[in-house]
Amino acid sequence: MIASFGYSASADGSGIVDLGRTLNTAFARIVRTFFVSVIILASGGMEKSPVGAEVDITIRQLPSDRLEVTYKLSNPQRALLFSAIPGRYRETHWEIKSKGFKIRRRNGRTRIERLDGERFSRVTITAAPAGKRLTKQYQPISQYGVDGLMVYTGHFWPVSKRGGRMSSAFTFIPENGGKIVAFGEHTNELSNWRSPHAHPSFVYMGPLTPVETADVMAIVDPDAPQWIMDDFYEMTPRALAHLSEEFGFSLPTKPNLFLAAPLGKEEGRLRYAGDALPGQFQITLAGAAWKNRTPQAISIFRSSTVHEAVHLWQAAARPVNNDVASWIHEGGADAIAAETLVAIGYWEPENYTEYFLGAREECAGGLELGPLSSAEKRDNFRVLYACGHVIAEAVSIAENRSVTHFWRDFVERARTENGYTEETYFELVQERTGDQAFVDKLRDFVRTPLANPDREIGRLLAAAHMTAQNAPLAPAQGR
Ligand SMILES: [Zn+2]
Repeated sequence: MIASFGYSASADGSGIVDLGRTLNTAFARIVRTFFVSVIILASGGMEKSPVGAEVDITIRQLPSDRLEVTYKLSNPQRALLFSAIPGRYRETHWEIKSKGFKIRRRNGRTRIERLDGERFSRVTITAAPAGKRLTKQYQPISQYGVDGLMVYTGHFWPVSKRGGRMSSAFTFIPENGGKIVAFGEHTNELSNWRSPHAHPSFVYMGPLTPVETADVMAIVDPDAPQWIMDDFYEMTPRALAHLSEEFGFSLPTKPNLFLAAPLGKEEGRLRYAGDALPGQFQITLAGAAWKNRTPQAISIFRSSTVHEAVHLWQAAARPVNNDVASWIHEGGADAIAAETLVAIGYWEPENYTEYFLGAREECAGGLELGPLSSAEKRDNFRVLYACGHVIAEAVSIAENRSVTHFWRDFVERARTENGYTEETYFELVQERTGDQAFVDKLRDFVRTPLANPDREIGRLLAAAHMTAQNAPLAPAQGR
């Protein structure tokens, strides 16, 4: 998720954006499915399983990180549709094994069709990993140690003509006695499976044995440096326990954490990419610099990992649509990660301050190019994290409470209102601070082009009544 400290990294914004959109449609489908099954039961309960899937998807692991995927449709169709992802991943990395089919792209969709245009009810493809990392997208297939891979089901999940995901049941078949890991499952074969979150998810296939505790199921690449494994196993359960406590609720399913470390040979590289989904997050570390337990590597690893963990709780609050600014949750996750690291004893107040000052500097630099409200359009993702972090801190100072405390309320509010917008955020700030002048300043800060961003950050913090005593120096005290 993070690119501060001057290292290359990728944004995980897509994950949460995707999450907002598909969670809403998935929810609509759950409601619909529920009604249909009630009707079936009321009319005599003819069916054993309440509602059959529209499509059965069998994903078989093949050698060298490839998959064989078979689609079986309950009603024959003229085309199998997928919402297009940027680049031409499916068109270039999928091969149709069934005879007499073609794959093409039209009107923002990938389509699999028969050459003769007839309806069909079954087709098999093979899929290879994307080669180059897809930007702002979950990776369809990622290597996880020797003979292991992780699938993101979303890219293999067909959509209906209207664009919603088809009701699908997945079967996973690993190679050579490998295992499947998905949420609490750890098994030889997973049949007729649907994610407990009714949402695309990560599924691991391969020989690794997960580390399971009462609260978490983790799959860690054996190629990861030992210090990373130690840190991950020791810190993550503590961070999760702390977040459960602070947010006031536990996660609905035992979360999965996946850590891959295809480090490569580039000595100076220290790249952390993270993706969060409901109940799961995955981390990919690249660059040989991870082998050394340097202060920078430790700091990036810890802050980024806890940032992803925070998303697991934030996922309970959904943005109403794709257009809701991601500075809200990305900046919130950075700030809460910093609070958590101090609270569980991994950071000193100096680390916290340094992290905040880094965000402030990056935010100021990013806003030179335009206002925060249009940063996403400019593909300036880092500024969303950095300025979101600054804003979260400013709010925390203004109300004299922790960022986590704000989010505890914000999640509750978004649940009651069935999603949140930027306006929901401002309204809650207004309610909690009772400070109109600060909220006005905050709105301006987000929406107006700023001639001197650094000065405006100073003014925002002044409007929050920041003093030497309540500056983000000692987050554990007072707030
Ligand atoms: Zn994030």
